Amino acid sequence: MTPTARRPQYRTFFGAPPRDLSDGRPADVAFLGVPFDLGTTLRPGARFGPSAVRAASAWSSYYTHDGNAAGGWYDLDLRRWILRGVTMVDWGDVEITPADITHNLDRTTVAVEEVLEAGSLPVLIGGDHAITYPALRAFAERGPIHVVQFDTHQDFVDERQGTRLGHGNVMRRASELPYVSGISQIGLRGLQKYSEPLKAADAYGLRTVSASEVRMRGPEAAANIVPPGASYYLSVDIDVLDIAVAPGTGTPEPGGLSYAELRDAIRAVAARGHVVGLDLVEVSPPYDWAEITSRTAARLLLVALDAVFRDRDPAARQG
Ligand code: MN
Ligand code: MN
Repeated sequence: MTPTARRPQYRTFFGAPPRDLSDGRPADVAFLGVPFDLGTTLRPGARFGPSAVRAASAWSSYYTHDGNAAGGWYDLDLRRWILRGVTMVDWGDVEITPADITHNLDRTTVAVEEVLEAGSLPVLIGGDHAITYPALRAFAERGPIHVVQFDTHQDFVDERQGTRLGHGNVMRRASELPYVSGISQIGLRGLQKYSEPLKAADAYGLRTVSASEVRMRGPEAAANIVPPGASYYLSVDIDVLDIAVAPGTGTPEPGGLSYAELRDAIRAVAARGHVVGLDLVEVSPPYDWAEITSRTAARLLLVALDAVFRDRDPAARQG
């Protein structure tokens, strides 16, 4: 192909084509930004997460320089190609309006339903963690699903000051969905002030591995708490990483996972069953430095998608 003076520049996730799927042309992955942070307890800013992760992901374009799509990437660390032949689109952002949590969350559910109806894997980029509950509601006719949460915090508070839909309530709401068969939490280390959520977590049967336990046992062993052979919804709260690895988030804590530990835990979980949905939340660019957090988030998305689609790539099976 003759070099041209210009190339189109899309500010999309990994430069994937910016389109919806209503034209009937399928794609394996549909990225969906959810610039919502009205569920934040302390420091807002995660509404800027989708645009920051889009910018950081542009380093790793979906297209090669001759314009070919879905060629994948050669991962020098893994020594194999990843995501070859996996098609992706950026379906844009959920429309977020001010001062109305319920309608914003309802629109998030509708957007995920549209992705599922098109047969694509929904990949949500938040936004604060409150967006996971409306995403899970879209699976109402598609259960049972097991939620695997990578997080510093349990997010299992029933109600605080009249609020039940914030980012600290999200897994409690998830636990009430009849088609959510269970929840596994990996990387916990936050401070829990009240005993009610702890008792409720025990009563529900939350499966948990703390950050220290991930370090002691290794990420692969930590993934063994996840029931094998199930359909999983993976929810990655970026604050599961150490504060030094992911400073750009609303409620960071020291003592968190390394990038490699989280990467390996995601891989180990995905290998146990079938991933039907994925979100990455709580990237908050106002607290980030040098794009550390958004860049890490972008790479984690590729890692997670490789884990989800690995069995589709013949070259990967040999490796
Ligand atoms: Mn969370
Ligand atoms: Mn958290």
